[in-house]
Amino acid sequence: MKYIDEYRDAGVAKGIAQAVRARVTRPWVLMEICGGQTHTIMRYGLDEMLPPEIELVHGPGCPVCVAPLEIIDKALAIAARPGVIFVSYGDMLRVPGSHSDLFRVKAAGGDVRIAYSPMDAVRLARENPSRQVVFFGIGFETTAPANAMSVWQAKREGLRNFSLLAAHVLVPPAMRTILASPSNRVQGLIAPGHVCTVMGTREYEDLSRDFHLPIAIGGFEPVDLLESVRMLVVQLEEGRAEVENQYARSVTREGNVPAQRILEQVYEVCDQQWRGIGAIPMSGYKLRPEFAEYDADLVYGTGEITAHEPEECISALVLQGLKKPVDCAAFGTLCTPERPLGAPMVSSEGVCAAYYAYRRHDGGQDGIRRPVGNRPVREVL
Ligand code: SF4
Repeated sequence: MKYIDEYRDAGVAKGIAQAVRARVTRPWVLMEICGGQTHTIMRYGLDEMLPPEIELVHGPGCPVCVAPLEIIDKALAIAARPGVIFVSYGDMLRVPGSHSDLFRVKAAGGDVRIAYSPMDAVRLARENPSRQVVFFGIGFETTAPANAMSVWQAKREGLRNFSLLAAHVLVPPAMRTILASPSNRVQGLIAPGHVCTVMGTREYEDLSRDFHLPIAIGGFEPVDLLESVRMLVVQLEEGRAEVENQYARSVTREGNVPAQRILEQVYEVCDQQWRGIGAIPMSGYKLRPEFAEYDADLVYGTGEITAHEPEECISALVLQGLKKPVDCAAFGTLCTPERPLGAPMVSSEGVCAAYYAYRRHDGGQDGIRRPVGNRPVREVL
């Protein structure tokens, strides 16, 4: 296939779902990691096309959702400082910290700006030498290279008024934690194609071997995801546990070597807090000591901040595939996109936002979920 609409072709999708139905003989629990994949599944109703033996659970692959509450509170403290231009991706602005969010800081007079690239923040620093510019760098291995490049570029230019507040998380260590848990339910994994585009597939080979886990490196379109499910079901039914690359149009075994090189130059791997889940050893990046003057955490001396999640929020269980958003008592009542309690309801990749957007909370008056523009699922696919 060559064009995007072919990856959304209803006939192809139904054919793959039928192939899964013909192959499956027993129940299997499969996890997709990436929030973008979750939204495609919800939007197109892919889970409902599959036979009842296949249960899809949703993983911790929304970077905004797993950014620890402590880093949000640090961001709020820095953004409120006079003289600071605080730059962030747009979907961080409504993520609730302990007591506020970046929108409210902006409303109170903070200079909070949205950017689509960290290099925009470097440009702002260049254009505003009398101001301090801080970029809020949240993300998985996908966004980490661009954020690393901004620091590298700022150092190269000798900019002294740019810094990065970083909370980068890594997929394989988080998956190890989930898979090693006694409560783990995951039997097959749809790995995030964009992460593997950067990092390659090697790390997933170790994961597959260590946990005897079938893995399909999956894309983000409906046909990509259904094909990934089919690959996993075939492996599971045959008792195999290998890494198969469904997203071969983007992913190679080696990954993006220049991007990996900039990661190695600028970051070192560190223990990392995951929102709701807690600390996971060696699951994040921090700036290397030679880039310390660009580390906003050190520059602004925010130190340790202790934060507490709202008691009602069960996002930790949702992000480990142990619960669904509809199992949360606050879903759609105390917690809505307008008044979110937890980050998964805010982010454009959040699983609770996906369930809310596509009407999983009420099933629709006539039992048909209404995704984009209130059209029934079957008309969208
Ligand atoms: S619905 Fe809201 S409160 Fe419940 S798990 Fe999701 S984000 Fe947390």
